[in-house]
Amino acid sequence: MNRVDEFFGANVFGDAVMRERLPENAYNELKTAISLGKSIDRKIADIVANAMKEWAIEKGATHYTHWFQPMTGITAEKHDSFISPDGEGNIIMEFSGKELIKGESDASSFPSGGLRATFEARGYTAWDPSSYAFVKDNTLCIPTAYCSYNGEALDQKTPLLRSMEAISKQALRIAKLFGLENVKSINTTVGPEQEYFLIDSEMAKRRPDLMFCGRTLLGATPPKGQEMYDHYFGVIKPRVKAFMRELDDELWKLGVLAKTEHNEAAPAQHELAPIFTTTNIAADHNQLTMEMMKKIAEKHGLICLLHEKPFKDVSGSGKHNNWSLSTDTGINFLKAGKNPSDNLLFLLTLAAVIRAVDEHQDLMRISVATAGNDHRLGGAEAPPAIISMYLGDDLNEILESIERGEHHIDSDKIKMTVGTDVIPYIRKDNTDRNRTSPFAFTGNKFEFRMLGSASSISETNVVLNTIVADVFSDFADKLEGSSNFENDVLELIRATIKDHKRIIFNGDGYSKAWEEEAAKRGLLNLRSTVDALPYWRTKENIELFERHGVYNCAEINCRADISLENYSKTIHIEALTLLEMVKRDVIPAISAYEGELCNTVVKKHSVSDKINCDAEIEVIEKLATFNEHLNRLVKELESAVDKSQATTDLLACAQLYCNKVLFIMDNIRHITDEAETVVSREYWPYPTYGDILFKI
Ligand code: ADP
Ligand code: MG
Repeated sequence: MNRVDEFFGANVFGDAVMRERLPENAYNELKTAISLGKSIDRKIADIVANAMKEWAIEKGATHYTHWFQPMTGITAEKHDSFISPDGEGNIIMEFSGKELIKGESDASSFPSGGLRATFEARGYTAWDPSSYAFVKDNTLCIPTAYCSYNGEALDQKTPLLRSMEAISKQALRIAKLFGLENVKSINTTVGPEQEYFLIDSEMAKRRPDLMFCGRTLLGATPPKGQEMYDHYFGVIKPRVKAFMRELDDELWKLGVLAKTEHNEAAPAQHELAPIFTTTNIAADHNQLTMEMMKKIAEKHGLICLLHEKPFKDVSGSGKHNNWSLSTDTGINFLKAGKNPSDNLLFLLTLAAVIRAVDEHQDLMRISVATAGNDHRLGGAEAPPAIISMYLGDDLNEILESIERGEHHIDSDKIKMTVGTDVIPYIRKDNTDRNRTSPFAFTGNKFEFRMLGSASSISETNVVLNTIVADVFSDFADKLEGSSNFENDVLELIRATIKDHKRIIFNGDGYSKAWEEEAAKRGLLNLRSTVDALPYWRTKENIELFERHGVYNCAEINCRADISLENYSKTIHIEALTLLEMVKRDVIPAISAYEGELCNTVVKKHSVSDKINCDAEIEVIEKLATFNEHLNRLVKELESAVDKSQATTDLLACAQLYCNKVLFIMDNIRHITDEAETVVSREYWPYPTYGDILFKI
């Protein structure tokens, strides 16, 4: 196998395989179920299950698993083998429709925020037929939603599918208004660009912080950082190249459309961008991509760090969520016609997104809020924690002229331009694209750049889908039955821009001036996860999600609780790791070096009193001060951790971790990082930033 087109999707039970292996009626029913998001009946499920099993066994599979995404953010698998006894002492390989559609998962230790009482001990899993099954590690993996017995979502996929249904429903109403009669469904599409670091695994294994937390908790800035930008799009090193090659191959076999791989801004940082696809598949594929990155890195003696901020003073990693929506007939709502000012559907969609983002800044922020991402947002390389939108000069001009009422429409032209696939008028010029905007219009899609590299993209897309669905619903209410449609649409666009233009910002999003300006505009600036998460439970947000059947109140509470818990747990682990490192490695190293210097002084003096020992004594004094401070701070950190842990209120607990524990950890780091520059290399217990970042 060497031609990509020959092995692409080889491990996927995709459309071509289904068509080939399923009886026509089963295939057709399944296709309809997939495109309309309906469930399939047991008889068809049995047929599909059997074909799937036969295919998987030919691919070497012995087991199957319902592959799902619990709220921990990673994927989970529970493997069952296909074998069953045949009653005569032999085995047969079996897999029924019942097992395909509904599996019970004895997954009582996944976080469920109290939704699923532990005595029930099980949630159930249901196949998502719109995401193809695949074979990985001799296991047939079935993309699956994971719910409680009452049907409450315990995973990331269920709400995502619900939100896709919600936006499809509302966008269909809009499509109808524009005369797009034969559209049956409307899907959002996503292309997530994934950033990551690759470092040598021997180095990484010598650092407990990287092993336990995925980020360095200490480490002095090396003499050379990323100031030269010589890594960005630079030549890829052979070892990294080999990794990327294998990663591409493995992803292609799994049907993941991995497209571009390049170096990123920071040394040892890279990016992979896939070609966009339907949102739930993009989310599954992104999970697979992250999993494969970690696995394949190990085979190459590397470790893949997906943490948002593995190294201080070095760019962190994010994920750019390119989002759009298209009809099943191929019309992209965010693709402008030849002359966008005449393209009403495009402009109305744009207005809907502007209003949605402005009204729901809190949810957008929440959807990217994790302990890891807090280190990144607001840093010099990532957008600030303020949500704003960038549209570019061309669009801005058009919107401004509409707002001023300087616009009229030629209704013939509308009919001509709406939905036709013509060359976009908007100049897609890379150079003047604003890289500092958290949410930028980039030609035919919006690019949300605040996502953390380690998280699932599901939550963000649940939010995007739902908030835009909500505005579409209101727009449709207003426009259905309109007798002067074009003018009413234009009027609606104008009113929307007027009310929500504060969210549009075209300047430098990283500047201090913007923070002040944003405050004047009344935009939210939720600096930390702990500031953002309480907004989950506002009355407006609960009503919004309930209105569209995406989350009920219990599910929201459960998600908010789990996010708070995850936040506290993450920092708890980091604090314990730092304590261990400082107590068992750093303080002893400082002491030992201090001891050696003292010995040197004694020895020198034993030769002659006149030999100058100022250099040694100066260092000894410094080292003594470091250890004195560290000793005190260790005690402070221990007591702050105890206090946080003893706090039962989830928010209060997370606040302690945020305001106290992290603060002391930072203070410790100031000292250890300075100590690292003083203590002899021989005595320092860990590989330095220089070792890790520049020695692949
Ligand atoms: P860049 O932003 O780096 O210039 P591209 O414009 O080529 O790169 O696209 C970035 C990502 O956006 C890719 O993953 C691409 O597949 C995705 N993308 C392109 N069109 C759409 C769309 N209509 N919906 C969602 N994602 C899209
Ligand atoms: Mg990008």
